[in-house]
Amino acid sequence: MSFDIDWDNLSFSLTPAKTMFIAKCPIGGEWSDGEYMPYGDISISPGAGVLNYGQGIFEGMKAQRTKGGKIVLFRPDQNGLRLQNSARRICLPEFSVEKFVEVIKKMVIENEEYIPPYGKGSLYLRPCIWGTGAILGVSPAPEYTFIVYASPVGQYFKTGFKPIKLEITTEFHRAAPHGTGNVKYIGNYAAGMFAARQTKEKGFNEVIYLDAREDKYIEEVGAANFFCIKGNKLLTPKTGSILPGITRKSVMQLASDKFGMEVSEQNVSIEEALSADEVFCAGTAAVISSIGSISYKGKETIYNNFNVGTVTQKIYDTLTKIQLQEIEDPYGWVVVVK
Ligand SMILES: *Cc1c(COP(=O)(O)O)cnc(C)c1O
Repeated sequence: MSFDIDWDNLSFSLTPAKTMFIAKCPIGGEWSDGEYMPYGDISISPGAGVLNYGQGIFEGMKAQRTKGGKIVLFRPDQNGLRLQNSARRICLPEFSVEKFVEVIKKMVIENEEYIPPYGKGSLYLRPCIWGTGAILGVSPAPEYTFIVYASPVGQYFKTGFKPIKLEITTEFHRAAPHGTGNVKYIGNYAAGMFAARQTKEKGFNEVIYLDAREDKYIEEVGAANFFCIKGNKLLTPKTGSILPGITRKSVMQLASDKFGMEVSEQNVSIEEALSADEVFCAGTAAVISSIGSISYKGKETIYNNFNVGTVTQKIYDTLTKIQLQEIEDPYGWVVVVK
């Protein structure tokens, strides 16, 4: 047990929790029951499909402690469904959603002492499916591995809840129409590192990508979905190549049901984003992060004087209170593990 964890200074970095889960599946076959085992290195062939051709997908989810002493997950079935969808696109075998949720719950229990105290962070769970069998030609690997590991984490952005500074890149795209942007495919992330590094070197927190077809519409913020608020309207991009976030979907539902906002998934032009009242990004890791400024072609647009907007705050409060059972969860989104 590693109780040298400093719960007050967690960041979004890897501190492996003690137990991981591994199941295997031969091509055309069935998943093994799998095993829970101590976290550690795994051995795979240098010819593994995932290493040579990037045949891999992942998910990201959080277990948290509530004030009432429960341990909860948020919509884990949705991660299971999305993992199936990603698997189909990357020629990986699908894993049953029911078994997926069962494995996640067991992983949370097995790693209970790694879940930060209430309010200090969460246990981030990372399910992956990789082509681990060796293959020389470009085709699906002969064997697959489903693995889940976990790590306690704190805030995703170093700024905490302070609004972040973003830059629209005019140099790189994240994803192309009919490509892999809409699935949690590992290759999308390595492909984004160069753009993110350049923008961070200039002092920004993350990069905003435009659509690859016309370079006119906002697509995503690094690994979080983009939203803007204009009066009573909540707009979020719909380009076909964005990642369908579970936080995004939940935010859209809350804005409509709880705040009577007019919610629209549509093309969001650069001009619309720059003239919005409030902008934020959303994802499991980022939760809801208020955007304080967006720079485009060297010109910075500042929102709300770098303060969190009132609507953004309201959406954040409602979402996080539902997630932590502090207000009613009319949708059955929260799954109590213990
Ligand atoms: C995971 C991810 C998101 C957020 O999805 P959630 O289900 O809300 O965590 C958004 N964009 C990208 C590119 C992602 O990888």
